[in-house]
Amino acid sequence: MINIKYDKIRKFQTTVHILTVQKNKDIVIMPSLGDRTRRQKLQDITHAWFDRNGFKQIAGVNGGFFGGNMILPIGLFYVDSGFLLNRSWTGDAFLELIHKEGKFIIDDVSSLEFMDKHKSANFGVSYSYSLVVDGKIDIRKGDKFKWTKQSHPRTMIGDNDEKYFFAVCEGRKKGEKGLTAIESAMVMAELGCITAINADGGGSSGMKIEGKIMNKTYANRAIADALLIYARPGAEYEIELMSKGQRSKEVIETTVYEKEKETIKKVIIEAGHGGRDPGASGNGLVEKELNLTVALEIERVLADYEVEVSLTRRDDSTISIIERAKISEKINPDLHVSIHHNAAKVTSARGAEIIHAHHDKYDDVLAIDILDRLERIGMPTRRHFTKLNARGTDWYAMIRRIWDNDTDAIITEGGFLTNAEDAKMLADDEWLKREAGCIAAAIVDYLDLQKKEKREDVSITTESAKNMYVVTANVLNARLDKMGKQINKLKKGEIVEKIGEHQDGDWYIIRKENEFIGFVSARFLKEA
Ligand SMILES: [Zn+2]
Repeated sequence: MINIKYDKIRKFQTTVHILTVQKNKDIVIMPSLGDRTRRQKLQDITHAWFDRNGFKQIAGVNGGFFGGNMILPIGLFYVDSGFLLNRSWTGDAFLELIHKEGKFIIDDVSSLEFMDKHKSANFGVSYSYSLVVDGKIDIRKGDKFKWTKQSHPRTMIGDNDEKYFFAVCEGRKKGEKGLTAIESAMVMAELGCITAINADGGGSSGMKIEGKIMNKTYANRAIADALLIYARPGAEYEIELMSKGQRSKEVIETTVYEKEKETIKKVIIEAGHGGRDPGASGNGLVEKELNLTVALEIERVLADYEVEVSLTRRDDSTISIIERAKISEKINPDLHVSIHHNAAKVTSARGAEIIHAHHDKYDDVLAIDILDRLERIGMPTRRHFTKLNARGTDWYAMIRRIWDNDTDAIITEGGFLTNAEDAKMLADDEWLKREAGCIAAAIVDYLDLQKKEKREDVSITTESAKNMYVVTANVLNARLDKMGKQINKLKKGEIVEKIGEHQDGDWYIIRKENEFIGFVSARFLKEA
């Protein structure tokens, strides 16, 4: 009998879903790329060979990191059926989780080193930084990832001699702070992990049990791969629901969270002031005008994403704060962003400031991200803060009222009109567009917005240009695997991109214009 326990615990103001799997000869843990031709939602990712051979999929979590347009995950992906991806451009940021002789090992290996050191492994996949090594919290390579100190939904994978542990935490929601890297390492160490690693997080972070998604934060995003738990043919298993103290699959059916439909997120971009209220002024600049330019540009950038953007004004009209709050209440957005620019009596005061609601601890994730982005393009960071009135609620009327509507809210102050250096930048419309670009990019990350499905020309970076090949055979068959079924045909002269190779090195995995093509024999390709 295979024993599996599912539990929900609260740690660091966050719900953590924990799946504990007793190690047993009837249990198989295996990463899967799904159908390999496209990314799939976690609930749809399966392992064709296991399915065909009578294995039963019990559960799974999301896998490794992937890039915006990538079908396949970043880094090394080895399973004992012989499929291997190794892309050099991953640099040295990723650690590999290797499953060998029934145990997890964390190592830092290239594909060649992997074949030397871990030939007997069942699998090896690049996940990211370590959480627990030899039973101790040890975050190796955490410095390669910019989000480790912030609180987010995360997926953690680990084990000890007796059990495998899969943990997924919520985050980015009211009442769900999310975990930092160190907090997630503490959770895994407390569970008793000897080894644990961090997988992809944010909107990709998901756990499924018997096909049902257990965590609320999973954004139904199509992901590159999953780590799946299978029972061997004929093996019996039971899932114990710890937090309810009951042993029944029916209980799980009724407690799982199922997303009814993919809801489109909503954002309000509010250009501060307007009409009779000019806002701040200095060095010949009027705040209400700058605010509108930035707001319109944010709307333009976000038009490429799956999000509903509303502006409170798109011209020089006068709209009171109460009216703006009412608009926000009616739309009930996921996020309300007020765009402002600053002024001070002291003309030396300069730089960007962000004010966020004091209720919303995790709100400074967005504030810090915007300030970081602005600083990178040349606007110094002054501070981010919350300000309270005598009654202990937010001092800024806009944030206070929006909070009453139960919405995340921030005010951006993109520099001082009264400072000569800031004003010089702000006087340039091109600068205002870049400022808007920073705010828009941070909103995209914060709300996990997906790009609208749109075929665009692939822009080839110099890095990937090295991987471009031209077809030399009159007709070249592309297959699902080296010996797999034919899925595409290429003609002489076609240009394709190599995104990985078979472990034998004689077959390449290729794509064309972002479309996965398949495996082709390297003999009929030459460097473009
Ligand atoms: Zn203002």
